[in-house]
Amino acid sequence: MRHDSTGRTFAPESIAAQALGWVDAETRAIVSPIHPSTTFLRDPDNQYRSGRVYGRSDNPTFDQAEALVTSLEGGASSMLFASGMAAATAVFLSLSPGDHVVVPEVMYWSLRSWICGPGERFGFRASVVDMTNPEKVAAAIEPDKTRLVWVETPANPLWCVTDIAEVSRIAHAAGALVCVDSTSATPVLTRPLACGADFVMHSATKYLNGHSDVLAGTLTAARTGDFWERVRATRSQVGSIAGPFEAWLLVRGMRTLFLRVRAASKSALAIAEHLEQHPRVLSVMYPGLPSFPTHVVAARQMDGGFGGMLSVRIRGGEEAAVRVASRVSLWKRATSLGGVESLIEHRASVEGPDSPVPRDLLRLSVGIEAAADLIADLDQALAL
Ligand SMILES: *Cc1c(COP(=O)(O)O)cnc(C)c1O
Repeated sequence: MRHDSTGRTFAPESIAAQALGWVDAETRAIVSPIHPSTTFLRDPDNQYRSGRVYGRSDNPTFDQAEALVTSLEGGASSMLFASGMAAATAVFLSLSPGDHVVVPEVMYWSLRSWICGPGERFGFRASVVDMTNPEKVAAAIEPDKTRLVWVETPANPLWCVTDIAEVSRIAHAAGALVCVDSTSATPVLTRPLACGADFVMHSATKYLNGHSDVLAGTLTAARTGDFWERVRATRSQVGSIAGPFEAWLLVRGMRTLFLRVRAASKSALAIAEHLEQHPRVLSVMYPGLPSFPTHVVAARQMDGGFGGMLSVRIRGGEEAAVRVASRVSLWKRATSLGGVESLIEHRASVEGPDSPVPRDLLRLSVGIEAAADLIADLDQALAL
């Protein structure tokens, strides 16, 4: 609904708030129904004129969620998955044996573990590079072999920012596709497809839903084509499809996406600036701080804020970091991110002994509570 019947265009905030302005033709309801049906009626002439056959391929409840993500990302088509991991792995599972991929050193841990472990059993080879350095990306590309460059920006859990336009230019010159995990940036702050990427992925479990009560993932394509249809077939064959209730909750969550992300970004910047001055803090990793190494790229690429995610390294090592986390009360000690409630975690404990994450690092997901309350809670935890 970028245009209504009068031809006017609407800002993404308006499109999200009204979830594309959907109104049920029959009942005039302004909230869409949930379709739990796993199967659809075949016409007497043996055709499926509805276009729907079975729930492992598609569900009518997906339509609004997928169309809304497509609109917010400025893409051609979107697909909803059972989780962010289901969405991301569907891209890799759609490659062919012998394909080469380039992935970032700093990226969501579970996905990197899968790509560099079980994933490679499916026949692709992965090179791991510093994705924030375009020269390293160019050097890692194998002409005629590299099929995919995977980008995550800002990247979990150090929040370094990759120049999507630059990496896309390098990848496209070699005939490779670019997929951006934009979970932490959200379409509010970064539009990877407008920067030149081919696909954008979200763990919709995080900001898109925003309430820590749905597992889902999305992929959006700048243009449809053979590879996109392979991904669609993978989703249906593997069964990595979301449930209808999840799709419905996701639409509800996305109606407030802009308010939530902007509030979290504003508080995260205030918290980062405060912690940067704190004597017990060694360093603060946040793309919005001018002292942050990839801040210049972030300032150019991100629009209207730097996100709700930051990490801090605590003086005194792992023990001190764990102690600070143990002493907060408003912040909740839990993994995940992007919910309305603020979360804190000792990241290395979650990732395990092989984790490259500094042992003194705490990851903070800033919610929409009052920033002053969040800062006061951190201050009392750091003071002890
Ligand atoms: C959580 C997360 C994922 C995985 O998503 P799930 O919904 O947990 O499967 C992928 N990438 C990033 C950046 C994430 O934060």
